[in-house]
Amino acid sequence: MSSNDSIKIVWVYPDLLSTYGDQGNCIVLERRAALRGIRTRTVHVRSDETVPVDGDIYLLGGGEDRPQILAARRLHGDGGLHRARDFGAVIFAVCAGYQLLGTEFGGEEGQPVQGLGLLDIRSSRGQQRAVGEIVGDVDQALNVPRITGFENHQGVTHLGPGVKPLARVVHGIGNGDGHEGAYQGHVIGTYMHGPALVRNPGLADLLLRWAVKHDLPPIAESWSERLREERLRVVLG
Ligand code: GLN
Repeated sequence: MSSNDSIKIVWVYPDLLSTYGDQGNCIVLERRAALRGIRTRTVHVRSDETVPVDGDIYLLGGGEDRPQILAARRLHGDGGLHRARDFGAVIFAVCAGYQLLGTEFGGEEGQPVQGLGLLDIRSSRGQQRAVGEIVGDVDQALNVPRITGFENHQGVTHLGPGVKPLARVVHGIGNGDGHEGAYQGHVIGTYMHGPALVRNPGLADLLLRWAVKHDLPPIAESWSERLREERLRVVLG
């Protein structure tokens, strides 16, 4: 299959935000694009490099508290992610990456740290660490089936009026208010590792649809859908 579409994927700060295997999200986007004849080019941008503004999809992963603070400072100083968002780019961020897109998050001592303000959310440190499987029903407007992932975070996240929850929690903790993740325009944040796009092909296809700005044909490859169904069975019985 061939297509005229071509997308640039930007993997942001692998040296700071790649602790939990979230780079798998890049690989799945590349694969699901290739199966539709969409060309992809992926660039890894380290924290001492400039964030390019011509990307179509930006991915941020999870990380520990200190690298998260450093990443927030550097991304703030860089400004590239804000400009890319203004140009209409898709941003998909996991856990530490999700929290730092908000206006504020809790540092390693619980101190408030300034975020990027790309999502109208505010995170702080909760009493207990949320560790385990998470399942959620996605906001209907996004047309993505029930999502599954693995969460591992101390933060609780409060959603402001500018965002919508990504999903309603069926199992697990998520933001801590019965919801999981948030989205605002084409910026999505989630607590789901796993990695999220490996375990949720529908979510991967949503990002690709947004990036190429049209619907995508279904693909025959079914292992990731089988994995999603298996995780739902294991967690929900
Ligand atoms: N440090 C953040 C927290 O514990 C994010 C952790 C992560 O990315 N898994 O809430």
